[in-house]
Amino acid sequence: MDFMNKKVLVIGVGISGNAVAKIAKQMGAEVTLSDSKAEADLKYDLQDLRDAGVKLVFGKQENDLLDGVDLVILSPAVPVRIPLVQEAYKRNIKVTSEVEVAYKLAKSPILAVTGTNGKTTTVTLLGQLMRTRYPNAGVGGNIGMPLCEEALKAGEDSCVVAEISSYQMEASQEFNPHVAVILNVTPDHVVRHGSLEVYQQMKEKMFANQTAEDYLVLNYDDPKTRGMAARAKGQVFFFSRKETLEEGAFLSDGWLTISWQGQVCKLCKADELKIKGGHNIENALAAAAAAFLGGVRIPKIGETLKAFEPVEHRIEPVATVNGVPYYNDSKATNTDSAIKALESFDGHLILIAGGDDKHTDLTEFMNLVKEKVDELILVGDATARFKEAALAQGYAAEHIHEAGYSMDKAVEIAHNVSGIPQTVLLSPACASFDMYTGFEERGRDFKRLVKDLLK
Ligand code: ADP
Repeated sequence: MDFMNKKVLVIGVGISGNAVAKIAKQMGAEVTLSDSKAEADLKYDLQDLRDAGVKLVFGKQENDLLDGVDLVILSPAVPVRIPLVQEAYKRNIKVTSEVEVAYKLAKSPILAVTGTNGKTTTVTLLGQLMRTRYPNAGVGGNIGMPLCEEALKAGEDSCVVAEISSYQMEASQEFNPHVAVILNVTPDHVVRHGSLEVYQQMKEKMFANQTAEDYLVLNYDDPKTRGMAARAKGQVFFFSRKETLEEGAFLSDGWLTISWQGQVCKLCKADELKIKGGHNIENALAAAAAAFLGGVRIPKIGETLKAFEPVEHRIEPVATVNGVPYYNDSKATNTDSAIKALESFDGHLILIAGGDDKHTDLTEFMNLVKEKVDELILVGDATARFKEAALAQGYAAEHIHEAGYSMDKAVEIAHNVSGIPQTVLLSPACASFDMYTGFEERGRDFKRLVKDLLK
């Protein structure tokens, strides 16, 4: 990608936008970074961009920002439908995304993962797997590290593992990962893309430019992703938790197994994984498949799978207090995620749930609560509605506890009511904004309180 003497407009301050602006500037472009917000409302320190010579423009985005511009680069948060981008298209100015710039800067193949759920876990694991072969492998994208920086750092004879959200694909046309993984597609982000069909099309853009030398790893158990095989340009490699496949990655007699071109290899047993739950078996199979196609040898794959620890806030073990294990699943900000967590345990749970209520239907969730949860501890705004929904499913009132807006109180109750063979699980099924700045802060508060119990 040649930035020399080009005039570049980056739209959207953020981790990716700031990084790509700086890189374009360092590579010889004249760069303007524009954000529709006022500088005071942005949480980023932009001094180093100023020092690097990037021009910053805040507030109303006038069309004259496009005068003389050769290339517009969008941050993932910026939709193509905004008037400034539409004007760029009208003027035939090339519009691209930060991930596409990363793709063009990369000197090594990209292994990209997308899907509605499981991206971060799969990408983190795949990053560890690829680093067994390429110690400098880059890991970035939606996961928090800017992909363009990671692509440059990885250099040659390496690889780049990318977490890709549907947002990042919107402005991409040429992005072409050597290995593309699509985990699942369920309704989400329909507001941004207009419909589930468009959302699915965004995911399909991941493999639209592939050729016969590339690989497309698809979830066989999800009808939407299985159907994508018909439109694949590269070689399809399925993974399945539910069925034994002739070729692909799957479970066989409790073993994660890869079968490919006549070779059948066992990786590790499902119960040797430290990440819990059926959904994580899917993530492990997907990551193993991509690593295999990326050239990691089978024994290394097995070893790395067994050693992989849960990503923070995703059914993360915290401590065992008086024989009772505590888990932090603060990332479960909706009922679907909390259901995944409940399904990952055999039962005897002390569940801490509630928070900033998303007001979705609670029937399925509370049915599972009735089956698996011995004591239900509720916090935050959602308390009254969650209690009512639990009672409506026949959950006994004497097993419901209210902790108000105090995680302190919730952990204290959990400690008082629990004993062997129970497990304490924070899996709120709610956002956290009634009590915290985000799920990360909530999870860390919970962990601190649990660790205090050990003192
Ligand atoms: P993402 O980055 O896509 O949000 P994470 O790895 O952070 O994915 O997982 C977020 C939540 O999604 C988890 O807490 C879990 O409830 C759910 N989840 C993870 N993997 C899967 C999967 N393969 N299928 C369905 N749900 C999943």
